[in-house]
Amino acid sequence: AAALANRATSALRAYDPGHDLPALRLRFGAVLSELGSNENPLGPSKLAMRAATRVLEDIWRYPDPLGASLKQKLSSELGVPVQGITLGNGSHELLMLMAQCFADAEHPVVHSQYGFAVFPIAAAAAGAPSIAVPALPADHPHAPYGHDLDAIAAAVTPDTRLVYLANPNNPTGTWFSDASLEAFLDKIPARTLVVVDEAYHEYVDAEGLSTALHLCGRFPNLAVTRTFSKAYALAGLRIGYMLSHPSVAAVCERLRESFNVNAVALAAAEASLGDHEHRARVRDTNRRDRAWLADELTAKGLRVLPSQTNFLLVDLGRDAAAFEAHLFERGVIVRPMAGYRLPHTLRISIGSRGELERLLENLP
Ligand code: PMP
Repeated sequence: AAALANRATSALRAYDPGHDLPALRLRFGAVLSELGSNENPLGPSKLAMRAATRVLEDIWRYPDPLGASLKQKLSSELGVPVQGITLGNGSHELLMLMAQCFADAEHPVVHSQYGFAVFPIAAAAAGAPSIAVPALPADHPHAPYGHDLDAIAAAVTPDTRLVYLANPNNPTGTWFSDASLEAFLDKIPARTLVVVDEAYHEYVDAEGLSTALHLCGRFPNLAVTRTFSKAYALAGLRIGYMLSHPSVAAVCERLRESFNVNAVALAAAEASLGDHEHRARVRDTNRRDRAWLADELTAKGLRVLPSQTNFLLVDLGRDAAAFEAHLFERGVIVRPMAGYRLPHTLRISIGSRGELERLLENLP
């Protein structure tokens, strides 16, 4: 029981903002700048909101346990077979599910040292050891603290059944190219599943980076997870999806809870996939404000790491706790990364212009 309780605590910590947000909303009202959770300040598509509202009228019904309509829409939007799609209560659930399905005490999980926090948590919940492969160095030109794919490939042993990569990664914001992923997959044995977490996929615009999706045909041991929480701004509804070989999806289907995705989430996600205009506006606004904020912070002498996401990691080169506390007292919430053992860094979401301006006005 104690071991289970420990696991539960650490799973919560991956998301716990560390503050009483409802109380802060009351205290600061409209001037609260919530830049701690990588949420989308533009909110969801109007089509998604309309679809969600319509579903509320039928809320006494169970959701479609297969999510068939959303899967069909994903299949046609992405050009993937329906049989290779798994839906989850957020992509968090899918990451957990993969460890439950494919890892155990004898089969460790491999991930990067500063990879997304849920990776080692998923391993622990499945009773599997996890191996955190040392990250690229802090002064790496393109990907400081990023995934070292060569070292990760070298850490894979005949017992490794599962590798988690995040591209781009949270909290570092860093990424690796499609070509380097392909070279990596060439080195990984077919019995080892590689999960590429693309939670921030819709925000990427770097040259040489698109998606792992087009490699799924060549590598049946590749799975890609994505979410409706970020660019689609449906974080509160909890819905994500995974694209994999149908045999991997079939195993997940057996283990997942029958109604893991609720009816409102299914409808809103499907509608938001059709709103290409909103998606483009989200991407363009994020790209513009990310570049602007990076320039502003750099001009103030701060080291901003390269990012392909809707957040920036700032490396202060000294303990960040006082910096964060100063902002907090002024209603600006940013996320300290001490939990990742990066206590000299802060993660700042690309919020609305107003929120970002208040951040800049209130810097220590
Ligand atoms: N992967 C990464 C890299 C993330 O940053 C997040 C959210 N913070 C998730 C997965 C999980 O997102 P969700 O469960 O909301 O889909």
